[in-house]
Amino acid sequence: MKQSMTLIPTLREVPADADVKSHKLLLRAGFIRQNASGIYSYLPLAKRVLTKIESIVREEMDKAGGVELLMPALQQAELWQESGRWQSYGPELMRLHDRHHREFALGPTHEEVITSLVRDEVKSYKRLPLTLYQIQTKFRDEKRPRFGLLRGREFIMKDAYSFHSSKESLDEVYDRIFKAYSTIFSRCGLNYRAVIADSGAMGGKDTHEFMVLSDIGEDTIAYSDTSSYAANIEMAPVTATYVKSGEAQQKIEKVKTENKKTIAEVSEYLNVNENQCIKSLLFKVDGRQVLVLVRGDHEANDIKLKNLFEASTVELAEAGETKEILGCEVGSVGPVGVSNVEIIADHAIEAIVNGVCGANEEDYHFINVNPGTDFEVTRYADIRFIQEGDPSPDGQGNILFAKGIEVGHVFKLGTRYSEAMEAFYLDEGGKSKPMIMGCYGIGVSRTLSAIAEQFNDDRGIIWPSAVAPYHVHLIAVNMKDEAQASLSEELYESIGQQFEILFDDRQERPGVKFADSDLIGIPVRVTVGKKAMDGIVEVKNRKTGEVIEVQTEKLLDTIQ
Ligand code: ATP
Ligand code: MG
Ligand code: MG
Ligand code: MG
Repeated sequence: MKQSMTLIPTLREVPADADVKSHKLLLRAGFIRQNASGIYSYLPLAKRVLTKIESIVREEMDKAGGVELLMPALQQAELWQESGRWQSYGPELMRLHDRHHREFALGPTHEEVITSLVRDEVKSYKRLPLTLYQIQTKFRDEKRPRFGLLRGREFIMKDAYSFHSSKESLDEVYDRIFKAYSTIFSRCGLNYRAVIADSGAMGGKDTHEFMVLSDIGEDTIAYSDTSSYAANIEMAPVTATYVKSGEAQQKIEKVKTENKKTIAEVSEYLNVNENQCIKSLLFKVDGRQVLVLVRGDHEANDIKLKNLFEASTVELAEAGETKEILGCEVGSVGPVGVSNVEIIADHAIEAIVNGVCGANEEDYHFINVNPGTDFEVTRYADIRFIQEGDPSPDGQGNILFAKGIEVGHVFKLGTRYSEAMEAFYLDEGGKSKPMIMGCYGIGVSRTLSAIAEQFNDDRGIIWPSAVAPYHVHLIAVNMKDEAQASLSEELYESIGQQFEILFDDRQERPGVKFADSDLIGIPVRVTVGKKAMDGIVEVKNRKTGEVIEVQTEKLLDTIQ
């Protein structure tokens, strides 16, 4: 591609509204332009990088047994009502209506659409497992769009969904996709870590995030200095993940509609010998907002829970901290549950800590705790976040912290969507059962930014070869010089047969061309200058800065 014919609007000035390196560099190097808050055009160079990331994603997803399809971005409200998320997803869901006043959303994710598709098309265990994926623009009305492509309101995601007739089959595909993700991020050249994650609004049990290590990351990772243990800090408190509860959704509604917010009101309301009840309590620990979820299986535990509430209240009052019970959850709509998800959205909760009691089934209520034990409930005074230097929860080594950018996320969803949306199949005995599901996301546009964030110097971006927009940047120092112009044209043709090449054929000063070239960050630069007449050009490695002079006949061997 000749630079005079494409659009690479580089900027000398550092844009005022950009605060992280990748955002500044992508603007300055002419990769992106903002349209509205969190909404960007990907200019030609960025489009090429996106295509490369997408190809890597496609290759690895295909190898892992995935099949690509493409679903609509515009989704009917009815589907979201069926899953319950029309209510629970909150203001991040971009809602709109058509000329007939029918409601729609612009898809932030596609569990509903894919579940309805598979429900209608797959009826028998013989067609399972099935893993489908797409690469598509997603929409989320983020509260704080920022850092350029890292947190957009319109962004590109690869989302995959798997359907199974057994838990073993889900485990197998989850592992396969987990490995595919590791390969994808390694191929992109990234320094990343897979961490135990919190299942949040998606529902699910086992879940991992892929975090690119970076100081500007919005997540904190607690990892062991000796073992492979690594967790999102949300998931590495004293106790671990709350997984599932078992009662009716109306109860949540009742608490909400009757606005039972004081401790007395909620405790009284809860003290009804409920089995399997979950209570949530919001308060501050060390200045951080914490939502405590407590699960109780038995009547006896309910009493403990009540005590927990009361003890916590007293201590909170004594500590003079803000406290508010925001509601209780007694229902099973997914791992954290509708009400808690809303609480999390409304209150910018920084951590979730679980008070544990009655955890009597392995990995059911909580992971990372010893099953079969009737745990004492965690009391306010006992709650403490994991800290650097603590022993690792796996017993090996000590904890260190790092910041991470979430580029991928894999979940075992279980039957949360298939049950709500009636995606059933017939098993070998002709019995109808809900499909078991997994879902797997990669932020493709976020990955582009994360690469730029991780690979740069004070002159610009340094693209890893596998995702670089071009492999070679050919620069003619002086296009008005006959010998330089003709040798450049010749090399543009010959190099172009083997490598993706960008040719700076502009009538610009050499200083401008070199500065732009460093800013754009193509791995190999070939400069045609004064020695063109002798058939000698200069080859520079963007990463190492190493410069060598090469005879044009040996050029192709030098570039690799
Ligand atoms: P975050 O915690 O950063 O808000 P998420 O957990 O809400 O992300 P998921 O629902 O897990 O995101 O979506 C799958 C992937 O999509 C994420 O791992 C991330 O790479 C990407 N992603 C999510 N939100 C955005 C966004 N606003 N802009 C760009 N990429 C995003
Ligand atoms: Mg999010
Ligand atoms: Mg997240
Ligand atoms: Mg996520």
